[in-house]
Amino acid sequence: MNSIFEDAQKRLVEVFKHIELTDDVREKLKHPKLSLCVSIPLRMDNGRLKVFTGYRVQFDDTRGPTKGGIRYHPDVSLDEVTSLSFWMTIKCAVMNLPFGGAKGGVSVNPKELSRLELERLSRGYIREIADIIGPKRDIPAPDVYTNATVMGWMADEYAQIKRQQLPGVITGKPVHLNGSLGRDTATGRGALHVLQQWVERNDLRADKMTLAVQGFGNAGYHFSRLAHAAGFKVMAVSDSQGAIFSEEGLDPQKVMNHKEKHKDLRTMLYCDGSVCDLQRYKKLTGHELLGLDVDVLVLAALENQVDKDNVDHIKARHILEIANGPVTSEADVLLEKRGVTVLPDVLANAGGVTVSYFEWVQNIAGFYWDANKVNSRLEKTMVREAKSVFDLSHDKKISLRTAAYLQGVKRIAGAITQQGTHEYFQNE
Ligand code: NAD
Repeated sequence: MNSIFEDAQKRLVEVFKHIELTDDVREKLKHPKLSLCVSIPLRMDNGRLKVFTGYRVQFDDTRGPTKGGIRYHPDVSLDEVTSLSFWMTIKCAVMNLPFGGAKGGVSVNPKELSRLELERLSRGYIREIADIIGPKRDIPAPDVYTNATVMGWMADEYAQIKRQQLPGVITGKPVHLNGSLGRDTATGRGALHVLQQWVERNDLRADKMTLAVQGFGNAGYHFSRLAHAAGFKVMAVSDSQGAIFSEEGLDPQKVMNHKEKHKDLRTMLYCDGSVCDLQRYKKLTGHELLGLDVDVLVLAALENQVDKDNVDHIKARHILEIANGPVTSEADVLLEKRGVTVLPDVLANAGGVTVSYFEWVQNIAGFYWDANKVNSRLEKTMVREAKSVFDLSHDKKISLRTAAYLQGVKRIAGAITQQGTHEYFQNE
């Protein structure tokens, strides 16, 4: 398989055509600042010792402490974590947050661990990376298969190591452990603001638009629930086990109630009296969901879901990227040729890191906001940066992805340049 990081870097080639950059900036954006690979010994419940591999990559910290989630997944690799840290660098700059980008992960299938094993692994991972993180250095958060509980264990472990309470070291914590209200819904909510801005700008109507959502996890579920409430028709959702479809549209809250009870979506086919009372569902494969003839295909699972091999199968007019890197650069070019609009990840899923920023601010100030304040500041930030990306795309006649990258790279380049470049020192 091709390197995800090499593919991610290809996007910069297009961006560099639209901006004058010194070689210093180009050079800096090619290399992560720090890549750490650790072995985490874990005492399993049966007494055996198993060692798991973990990573933390800090890509660039020119604009501030680095920021990025921690992923638990069997496919986690240094290549994947490096790409995700690069995307975080761009994303924080797109949103004008005072952060650089980082990412972490452990190569593990968390579904095979007991709750106690998961806690010991999470604490062990923090012990291994404690020297390179901190509220003013590098601030982790949740990502795929990690959640608020895991962040709470990690923040507690860090406090024990440092012998002081430093809640600003990690965001996405439980609300009762110095987390922020609104963080759990922020990614889905932020993605909806971006979609709504696009709908408004193009004189479309939410109540006439259909959606299919790949990935019914934290981000995909909250997005679907809020989009349904805003009038969009959610035709289908999927998780790693399969997909369901309803001609009349699904109620995402009912789907989640069922999923929580039965652990996957496949059983939705069989009416259990609690969710099938109003609607009937049809079972689809994940591949069929991707090919549905809907207005918006929402990708909220993992990277590389749409590539050159399945791009012809896509019929949606718009793609909303809630996952990081769900469309490969080759597929991107083909989609653009076909006139499919891609609302890019570095903008569309930035609601999570934006509220993580708010959480960090609250932790440092020791002063906590109510949910209305969090949500209204999130909306203001998402709308401001989305409008600016849409304007840039329109003015320069470039894709929304290139425009978003351009917005981010301009800000990063500005910061690097202010620190002094080759040209600056030559002119001395
Ligand atoms: P999650 O673990 O809560 O959910 C992931 C979901 O994807 C699960 O329901 C899983 O079953 C499903 N899935 C996995 N493989 C699939 C497949 N092949 N087809 C269909 N579904 C599949 O994770 P999350 O936090 O919701 O993150 C999802 C994506 O959004 C990731 O790419 C993540 O990096 C990105 N993201 C999340 C946040 C956040 O705040 N949660 C912020 C920014 C970006």
